[in-house]
Amino acid sequence: KEMGRNCFVFYNPDQNVYSHERLLLENEMRRALRENQFQLFFQPQIDLATGSLAGFESLARWNHPQKGMISPGLFIPIAEETGMILPLGATVLRDAFATVARWREQGKEAFKLSVNISGRQFYQKNFLSDVMDLRDRYRIPPHSIELEITESIAMQMTPSTMDVLLQLRKEGFLISLDDFGTGYSSLKYLQEFPLDCLKIDRSFIEHIDTDRRQRGLLASIVGMAKSLELTVVAEGVETEGQLSVLTDLGCDRIQGYYYSPPVPEHQALEFFSRTT
Ligand code: C2E
Ligand code: MG
Ligand code: MG
Ligand code: MG
Repeated sequence: KEMGRNCFVFYNPDQNVYSHERLLLENEMRRALRENQFQLFFQPQIDLATGSLAGFESLARWNHPQKGMISPGLFIPIAEETGMILPLGATVLRDAFATVARWREQGKEAFKLSVNISGRQFYQKNFLSDVMDLRDRYRIPPHSIELEITESIAMQMTPSTMDVLLQLRKEGFLISLDDFGTGYSSLKYLQEFPLDCLKIDRSFIEHIDTDRRQRGLLASIVGMAKSLELTVVAEGVETEGQLSVLTDLGCDRIQGYYYSPPVPEHQALEFFSRTT
């Protein structure tokens, strides 16, 4: 259960041991880290007020030599459980900084790149200094990086780890609360946390074009976020109907298959010249 829903196939409840398959995947993952088989895909976010490109979310992919692209739903839980999330998270973060630097060199400057940060990564004692080192190494404006944390990270926050968040923000990095509404959402976090952005989980978007009650709930979430002066991003927007409701409600940015799935870098670059 700890590994998340996507992993149940690897667990053998009768023997109470992890299956051969799962162990194999774990070993392959260690090797994948050594051999740089992980890469970033990028999903564009659109600014609804202007219709222009606001930025991208970076999403990890495992390019497995035999099995092809493996999605994070499968490997992130294993990485979390084995501790491999630390080297993986470090790779992802470095790649994100390197990507921003590379795109800026090509004259692409007005965009943000979001990076998902796992709990173990955030609570590691070197997290803040690692981020600062990357900033110094890649010399990119901090406001071009948006760090996505989850409600489960928020839950474990103590005064000293809150300080990490405050420091990051003081340096100019943007902080975003991911999957809002799915975890142990507490309004307390919204009030007390140094946040720039709220990403509303896809499950709150799914039926807004057909279900009046869901639309009402979303309207309240957007209103609440706005009164806290947070940027509101809707995740998992798939239809024109959803888009039109979100536009009416004054949502700031959207991300979803309606516009584009996550794509590799060469395709991501095409969005800079595309007009919506
Ligand atoms: P997330 O951060 O909430 O990312 C959004 C997920 O929703 C992505 O799944 C994306 O492909 C998917 N998605 C986007 N638009 C749509 C849509 O319109 N419809 C549907 N059905 N899905 C949509 P993905 O790439 O499989 O990633 C899953 C999760 O894995 C992410 O959820 C994030 O929590 C985690 N993850 C991905 N990359 C990383 C990473 O580099 N580090 C860490 N710690 N976690 C990561
Ligand atoms: Mg995310
Ligand atoms: Mg999310
Ligand atoms: Mg999610």
